[in-house]
Amino acid sequence: MPYTSSGCAASCLYCYLVCHYNKCSYLRVFVNREEMMEKIIKTSYKSEKELTFEIGSNSDLILENTVTENLPWTIETFAKEGRGFLTLPTKFDMIEPILNIDHKSKTIIRMSVNPEEIIKKVEFGTSPILNRIDAINKLCDANYPVGLLIAPIIMIENWKEHYKKFLQTLCENLSSKVKKEMFIEVIFMTYSFVHKAINNEAFPRAIELYDKDLMTGRGRGKYSYKSSLKNEGAEFLRTEINRYFPNTKIEYTV
Ligand code: SF4
Repeated sequence: MPYTSSGCAASCLYCYLVCHYNKCSYLRVFVNREEMMEKIIKTSYKSEKELTFEIGSNSDLILENTVTENLPWTIETFAKEGRGFLTLPTKFDMIEPILNIDHKSKTIIRMSVNPEEIIKKVEFGTSPILNRIDAINKLCDANYPVGLLIAPIIMIENWKEHYKKFLQTLCENLSSKVKKEMFIEVIFMTYSFVHKAINNEAFPRAIELYDKDLMTGRGRGKYSYKSSLKNEGAEFLRTEINRYFPNTKIEYTV
């Protein structure tokens, strides 16, 4: 759901926000946080069962927080007055402002991770992998429920080797508390004709993510990896994840 911002100052080449803003996914900040939080809290009591509200689908709220300082307020207000959970994904390590606050473990933070090779070539302006790992270790120590969002899976050259090395890096650097408590989500990259046009013009020297041999059209100018490749990739990842994290639940692979 839309929350306190939309857009982002980073420039991940596959980000759907870029397509909304054509070339420049600038950060737009909304000033009616009280109104939006009130709606979330009211809705949280209307449902029979506890709900989880995704508040980070239109921007990266950890990044936004460096400008607005909205996040500690959001987390503490929901902890005090809301029912169920908030959740947000992030690719950033600036988590200090939310470590020592009263969150009551009612906000689930999912750290979005990828091999460093992909971060450097594709996720311009985001935090390096070791910083993200350090951040999730600290969040888990501070008793936040945490997850790893391994996304998006990008089949660059030698991708299997990159992801194998990456899972080993995760295994060596995640704390045992994170390994015990986390869950994992796996999402393969989707791309589009508009992404390709924008990136070719805005980042002419960047890696080309569209690969006609690996991808297929999904309608409305969207591309995804061919089903057979995706199935094989999903199987490979499930096997490797189970090898390094045998007790971790993989919520889904899409
Ligand atoms: S950090 Fe997230 S929101 Fe920002 S450009 Fe990358 S994918 Fe998009």
